[in-house]
Amino acid sequence: MDTTRRQFFGCTLAGAGGATLASALGPGTKAAAQSTRTRRPAVPGSASMKLTFRPYTLELRHVFTIATSSRTTTPVMLTEIACDGVTGYGEASMPPYLGESHETAAAFLSKVDLSPFRDPFKLEEILAYVDGVAPGNPAAKASIDIALHDLAGKLMGQPWWRVWGYDRATTPPTSFTIGIDTPEVVRQKTQEAAGYKVLKVKLGRDTDRQIVEAIRSVTKVPITADANQGWKDRVQALDEIQWLKEQGVVFVEQPMAKDRPDDNAWITERSPIPILGDEAVQRLPDVRKASGVYSGVNIKLMKSTGLREAREMLTLARALDMKVLLGCMTETSCGISAAAQLAPAVDWADLDGALLIRNDPFEGAALADGVVRATEAPGIGLTKTPGE
Ligand code: MG
Repeated sequence: MDTTRRQFFGCTLAGAGGATLASALGPGTKAAAQSTRTRRPAVPGSASMKLTFRPYTLELRHVFTIATSSRTTTPVMLTEIACDGVTGYGEASMPPYLGESHETAAAFLSKVDLSPFRDPFKLEEILAYVDGVAPGNPAAKASIDIALHDLAGKLMGQPWWRVWGYDRATTPPTSFTIGIDTPEVVRQKTQEAAGYKVLKVKLGRDTDRQIVEAIRSVTKVPITADANQGWKDRVQALDEIQWLKEQGVVFVEQPMAKDRPDDNAWITERSPIPILGDEAVQRLPDVRKASGVYSGVNIKLMKSTGLREAREMLTLARALDMKVLLGCMTETSCGISAAAQLAPAVDWADLDGALLIRNDPFEGAALADGVVRATEAPGIGLTKTPGE
């Protein structure tokens, strides 16, 4: 059995000439079985995986301002893992304030050698190796995790949301982020965002109420709020949250500094709406630490090192009776399409990252009726934009 499975799942088998696992396993598909037999290499699993990467810079549609910084570009690293003619795509998005860069990602990815691995379905083994190459580097690690999932999904001929048993129809609407700006610009951005069913507002400065009132002068859609650790006093923060609830705000992310769990827990205990940890929640162990401090967590692939650990975080958060928001950075459709595979299982989605940029090199999960939904295509469901 084990040998048979290895033969079916080996990258050389399914990768050669586009025969998929689905066709190989299809009932009565004599031709497919024959084709599989003839394409089987002399030594199953003898092809190695090759990782390549290139730096890319995202151009943002608007200057993006949060409580702690403003910017017009985001550096990303685009990765590919090729295995016997099939290519998986990945991405590391690295907003500067998080500490990764083109240089750190290139240094990390240069140390990763996938050539000894012969079976891309051994995600546990491969990603454990990648995580051990060096500490930190969560986005660079995510770029490998995403490319590997894309590759394995293509070899199976299935998107991951289907492999995981999710129903795409349950994907929550995505929020569209309105950055910190003057009331006039906020009103204009809100009008431009008429296709969205949820808006997200960046708070944490003394203009918070003006921004929310500017949005409310244009639309009644639900608002989610992100203070990005910007509030300094818990009593004032709670006052603000109570006012925000009256304005139709459904949750608040990271009201106070991540290293002040007592203050954040004090707010969560008294808040009439869920309080989510974002900056405080990077990887799996942080979910347990967040229990009792926040009522939910914001999971992002660029923090979690990719889909595999993100899914573990989701499972743990559910076991701890916590809410889950699936977020993103400014990313291409690569990172967003990967996240969209998980999105049917979360409470709220904030997957507008690719909608905020103007030079997306991919097409994938797209916005329709306020929802950024994964496609039917295998892997993470991407196509490359011509010329990229
Ligand atoms: Mg946040």
